[in-house]
Amino acid sequence: MPSSGLETDLITLGRRIRHLRTARGLTLDALGERVSSAPSLLSLVENGRREPRLGLLRSIAEALDVPVSELLSPEPPSRRAALEIALDRAQRAPLFTTLGVPAVKPSQKLPMPVLEQLVGLHEELARREQLAIATPEEARRANTELRLEREARDNHYPQFEAVAEHLVRAAGYTGGALTHRTVARMAEQMGFTLLHVDDLPRSARSVTDLRNGRIYLPPASTPGGHGLRSLALQALAHRVLEHDRPRSYGEFLRQRVEITYFAAACLAPQFVAVPFLQERKRDRDLAVEDFRDAFGITHEAAAMRLTNLATHHLGIPLHFLRVGADGALFRGYANDGLPFPQDVTGAIEGQLICRRWAAREAFERRDRATEFYQYTDTPAGTFWCSTQTGSMSPSGGPDGGSGAFSITVGVPYAHAKWFRGRDTQVRRTSTCPDPACCQRPAPQLTERWSGEAWPSGRMHQQILAALPRGAFPGVDDAEVYAFLDKHAPD
Ligand SMILES: [Zn+2]
Repeated sequence: MPSSGLETDLITLGRRIRHLRTARGLTLDALGERVSSAPSLLSLVENGRREPRLGLLRSIAEALDVPVSELLSPEPPSRRAALEIALDRAQRAPLFTTLGVPAVKPSQKLPMPVLEQLVGLHEELARREQLAIATPEEARRANTELRLEREARDNHYPQFEAVAEHLVRAAGYTGGALTHRTVARMAEQMGFTLLHVDDLPRSARSVTDLRNGRIYLPPASTPGGHGLRSLALQALAHRVLEHDRPRSYGEFLRQRVEITYFAAACLAPQFVAVPFLQERKRDRDLAVEDFRDAFGITHEAAAMRLTNLATHHLGIPLHFLRVGADGALFRGYANDGLPFPQDVTGAIEGQLICRRWAAREAFERRDRATEFYQYTDTPAGTFWCSTQTGSMSPSGGPDGGSGAFSITVGVPYAHAKWFRGRDTQVRRTSTCPDPACCQRPAPQLTERWSGEAWPSGRMHQQILAALPRGAFPGVDDAEVYAFLDKHAPD
C-alpha cells in the first residue's frame, strides 16, 4: 500500500497521542476509560491505522489536557517518535513492500541505536533507488527531448535574449567582445564578487556562496580566458533565471541548456550580433570564423550561437555538429532536415556519423588551419558544410570532450549562397544509413582480410563509469560545503 500524505499525518497524530499519554503515566486502558473507548481502538489510532472521529479526538485532547491543535501538529513529539514515524513510513512504501522482507514493528521495545540504523538504511536504500532511476538511458531520453524542443523553436529563446541584453547594457557594453571586466561589473550589479581559486571542488565547475555574495571560479590563468567569462556568466545565469537545485536529470540538463544560452547571449548579444550577421549575409560573406573573431569567443561557441540567431533573424535553417576523431557525434543540432543517426531512444550523442560527411572528411586533410568546405549529397538532399578541426588538452574540455574534434556548421544547398566557401569544388555522396555507404568494408578488402584480422578492442571509459556519489546530480556537498567554509569571510 503506497503511503499517502494523509496516512503519514495519521502516523504522526498517533505518535503524538501516545507520547502525551505515556508522559502522563496513563495506560491504554486508563485512557480508554476516560474517553469511553475500547483500548484496542485507541491502539489502532496510536499506530496510525485508524482515523479517529472528531468527537473522539476532542475527548482524547480533554483527557490529556491539551488543545486539539496540539494533537494535530505535524511535528513528531520527539527524536524517537520521528524515527518511529520514518521507519513506519519507509516500511509502508512500495520500495520496501516489494522486497519481501519482514517488517519490524516500530515499538518502544526497539532500542534507539537499532531504530537509528534501520532508518539510516531505509534512507540510503531510497537514495540509491533515486540514483538508479537516473540511468544513462533516462539521461539520454531527457537530452533528446530537449534537443527536439530546441529544434522546434529554431533554438531561439527570446526571454533569455532579452534578459542578457538588459544586463550587458546595464554594465556598459556597447559592442565587440564582452570583456572580463564587464562580466565582473555585471556580477557586481547583481551583488556578487568573482573570485578565482585553484582548489574548486572537483565535482563543480563553479561554486556560488549565496550567503556572502561570492562566485568562485577556476584560476584566471587557465588557458582560454573566454571559457572563464562563460563560466562566470553561467554561474550568474542560475541566479538570473531563478534556478532551484535540479531534482531530475531532465531538470539538470534543461538548466545547463538555459545557462549556456544565457552566457552565449551575453557574449554575443543579439542587438550587436544580428546586425553584424545581417551585413555579412547581404555581402554573401557569412563565416563562423569571422563571427567568432568579432566577439572573441571559441569556434564552437560561435557555431552554437549562430544556431540561436540564423533561422530566427536571417531565415537560414542550419545544422551544427561536434564530432570526435573517431567519428562519434558529441553534440548535434539540426532544423534543416539533416538526418542524424539515432539509437533506439532517439538519442544522437555517441552515434557514428557518415564517413563522407564534412565533419569526418575534414580529419583527412593535411592542412587543418583553415575552414574546410564541402557539398554532400544525402538521401535528404544536398547540404553545404563548413568544418573546423581542433583538439583539446588531454584532460579534456569543460564538458568532458577530449582529443581531436571537428566543429561543423552546415545549411541546405539553397542557403549556401550566403556563405564564404560556397564555391568549393569538394563534393561527396552519402547514402547512409545504407550500410553499403561507408559502414561495410569494400568487397575486395573483405575478401582479402576476412578471418585474418584480430583487433584488440579499446573500451570506452564511460561504459564502466559509475554515477557520481553524493547529492544529485553528482555534486559532492561535503566537498562544496568544506570549500565554502574555508573561503568564507569571517
Ligand atoms: Zn555513410
